[in-house]
Amino acid sequence: MRDALVNMVFPRRCPVCDDVVPMGEGLICRQCREKPQYIVEPRCRQCGKQLMDEAAGFCQDCMRHRHVYDYGYALYDYQSMKKSIYRFKYKKRCEYAAFYAKDICEKLSGELGMMGADSIVPVPVHASRLRSRGYNQAELIAAELSRLTGIAMHEKLVRRIRKTVPQKELTVQERQNNLKKAFHISTNVVKLNKTILVDDIYTTGSTLDAVAMELKRHGVRSVYFIALCIGEGM
Ligand SMILES: [Zn+2]
Ligand SMILES: [Zn+2]
Repeated sequence: MRDALVNMVFPRRCPVCDDVVPMGEGLICRQCREKPQYIVEPRCRQCGKQLMDEAAGFCQDCMRHRHVYDYGYALYDYQSMKKSIYRFKYKKRCEYAAFYAKDICEKLSGELGMMGADSIVPVPVHASRLRSRGYNQAELIAAELSRLTGIAMHEKLVRRIRKTVPQKELTVQERQNNLKKAFHISTNVVKLNKTILVDDIYTTGSTLDAVAMELKRHGVRSVYFIALCIGEGM
């Protein structure tokens, strides 16, 4: 009843077409359900990227370069959801997080179970970006994921202490330098063992590596990740 009322006052928008979702259709409208393209097996065993060749095991990137994080998964193919993620990130469509997290739980339930994580950590944004945007998109997904799985979220554990240049403008080497000492854990109060990092878009993995480095330096044994989307050859 309360939900129906909230829905009337603040109609929920569809994460795919951005129209108001008709009553009773849930978090996404019926005709949009087939639109998101999911990453399926075979996937790279480290970054989760779609592979064409089952026997390969790892993608080209992961064969060349070892990551600090252990492994992870992305839910969507970037191209199929890029407009959705753009609105989520820059146009204040925070409500999409509920759909994204539910979709992660449904499509990657086995994978989440295998991880057996004791904590969820969203990739932090710098305080100045948080001020200008008003929210951290990764934290919105992480919070919903935490609510659905019961795994505790530690959103204040890692801080982004350096403002970094947008990663897409840089080469791989520049990306790594760009991220050096960008993240910081100030206390040792939480003893985490297995952590899932949550981010919106997986590009090269260097952001996740930088956060994983800081977590592992503070005694976290395994660092996994869940990203909302990943592209081909990103
Ligand atoms: Zn729709
Ligand atoms: Zn890979």
